[in-house]
Amino acid sequence: MAVDNTLSPHGGELIERVASANDAAHIAAGLPRIPVRDSIAREVINLAYGFFSPLEGFMVRSEVDSVVRNMTLNNGLVWSIPIIFDISRRAMAEAGVTPGATPEATSRVSVLLTYQDQALAVLEVAEAFSYDREFMAQNVYGTTDRDHPGVTRTLEMEDMFLGGPVTLVNPPVINPPFDRFWKTPRQLRERFSELGWSKVVAHQTRNVPHVGHEWMMKGALLSSEADGILVSAVIGEKKPGDYIDEAIVLAHHRLREAGFFLPGIHETSTLMWDMRYAGPREAVFHAIVRKNLGCSHHMFGRDHAGVGNYYETYAAHKVFENLPDLGIKSVLTLEWWYCPVCQGVAYEGLCGHRDQKQDLAGTVIRRIIDGGQEPAPTTLRSEILEVVRECADKYNAGSAFVTPEYLENRTPVISMPTLGCCTCSEHQPV
Ligand SMILES: [Zn+2]
Repeated sequence: MAVDNTLSPHGGELIERVASANDAAHIAAGLPRIPVRDSIAREVINLAYGFFSPLEGFMVRSEVDSVVRNMTLNNGLVWSIPIIFDISRRAMAEAGVTPGATPEATSRVSVLLTYQDQALAVLEVAEAFSYDREFMAQNVYGTTDRDHPGVTRTLEMEDMFLGGPVTLVNPPVINPPFDRFWKTPRQLRERFSELGWSKVVAHQTRNVPHVGHEWMMKGALLSSEADGILVSAVIGEKKPGDYIDEAIVLAHHRLREAGFFLPGIHETSTLMWDMRYAGPREAVFHAIVRKNLGCSHHMFGRDHAGVGNYYETYAAHKVFENLPDLGIKSVLTLEWWYCPVCQGVAYEGLCGHRDQKQDLAGTVIRRIIDGGQEPAPTTLRSEILEVVRECADKYNAGSAFVTPEYLENRTPVISMPTLGCCTCSEHQPV
């Protein structure tokens, strides 16, 4: 189907680096193998399908340095979060990769990245390098405090990094219930065309939606005059206490099923991304990725992608002021709270009873979900409560929140099929 979205991806071209089924086994045959962990596998998939356009692979040193120092790629295009593949010196040596840069594609070492013991993608190593991780953390997160999860993530990386283009050779299988919701940027753009959407506002979420979220989306849809709202649920690394992924996705979808949004104006999707909690830098990154998905607008609320007290409440609103036009517009929202005088969920920019506001913060909603307390229909829809409790029973022994048992026993979001053999005369069947 022709994709007639007028909104171009970041850098102008949607990257897709997926080998054809015919080529895949041949490309992968005989290469040294490097097993990768969950988070790297997710980034490989994102790179290959163009979620991170215009990136074609993991960043080389000069690219990382430019992003860290200037928040731009080498070509000057805005980019805020390093996309990097860290590796131990030993794993590198085992794969036959030596430190240094190899500018010519013809003399590069290629390696096969494997995941769940199956072929995933080929990485053409353009450079094997080291980088000062403290310096990276300070610039990306504005702190080197070990209590910041993004800082810890950075400092715990291995010593070396491999940069270079990746080509997916074995597309992953997305498991239920996520299979209906995960779409590549190309597929999402096709979906928008089907729906007749040319203006789309993105809602980034890691939450089960309460009525405040619902109105935040409705408000953004009205103020942006968009054709539809894309719920882009972040499915990635989880920590205990987070909502389980299944509940987030199915609860958002239920908002449409239950008629709180017309069918033609609301779509739920997933993004496999590990939150960095980089506040304003991550807000910029979220905007770029949603632009690649075909969105024209992106919602930013209070403390977007923040953690603790590292960033100002509305840092994500301000960061765009000093950047060139990214080609995706920000829809800035203030807080939605429960107001007993307005008798419902009210908006900070409208309600005159600030002194009587009741936060719709996580703790209140958690108490409702965890049991006992029935919600006022004005705070959490009974339809949402029902689906969240169903998910808790079905996917996590009764809890809607991530537990160590969930992390251990859950069905993974993605599974890797077995890649067929290469049958050419040059390679032995693998
Ligand atoms: Zn009020």
